[in-house]
Amino acid sequence: MNAVSSIAPDLGIQRLADFVADFALLIDERPVESALIARGGRLLADLVSHDDWLPQAYAEPDPERYRQYLLYLDPRARFSIVSFVWGRGQATPVHDHRTWGLIGVLRGAEFSERFFRDPEGAIRPAGPVRTVYPGEVEAVSPRLGDIHRVANAYDDRVSISIHVYGADIGKVERATYDRSGQEKPFVSGYYPLPVLIP
Ligand code: FE
Repeated sequence: MNAVSSIAPDLGIQRLADFVADFALLIDERPVESALIARGGRLLADLVSHDDWLPQAYAEPDPERYRQYLLYLDPRARFSIVSFVWGRGQATPVHDHRTWGLIGVLRGAEFSERFFRDPEGAIRPAGPVRTVYPGEVEAVSPRLGDIHRVANAYDDRVSISIHVYGADIGKVERATYDRSGQEKPFVSGYYPLPVLIP
C-alpha cells in the first residue's frame, strides 16, 4: 500500500464529518457556554468512543514532542478540531486556552492536572491528577478553569485525544506558566499537514 492510499478514501472519516455537521448546528444555535459544553461534550464523547476513523497520517507521534494536527476549522473560526498525539511519556507545559475547549480521549489515556492562581499570584493544583480514558471528555474555559497540564498516561505507548476549541486555537495568543505564576506568551500552531476536512 502506498502512502496516499493509506490516508485517502477512508469511510471512517464520515464519523468526523458527521460530528462537524452536528457541532456546527449546535454552534448555530448560539447556546450559552454551559449548554455548549454539555451538549458539545456529549457529541465529542460519542466521537471518541469509536476509535475507527482517524487516518494514520493524523495519528503519527513524534519522538521529540507531542503533535497537534488540524482536523477541521470552521469557515468563520467559530470552532476548530485538533488531534493531539502523545509519544511515550510526553506532556504539555502548564498552559491556558482563552476560549472554551473540549478534550476527549480517543486512544490510550491522559493525565489531566488543573491549576488555579492563588491570591499571591502563584499557580497551584486545583485537585488531584485525573486519568482520562477513551470515550471520556474534559472541558476547560476561562469561566470553568482554563489552566491545566496534560500528559500521556503511558510511557510505553502512544495516546491520542481529540480537542474542540471555540477559536482557531493554533493562532490564539495564550500563555504557559511556571509555578511562580509567571506567564510566557505562546501560540501553538499546528503540525504542517493539510487540514483533514477542508
Ligand atoms: Fe490544553
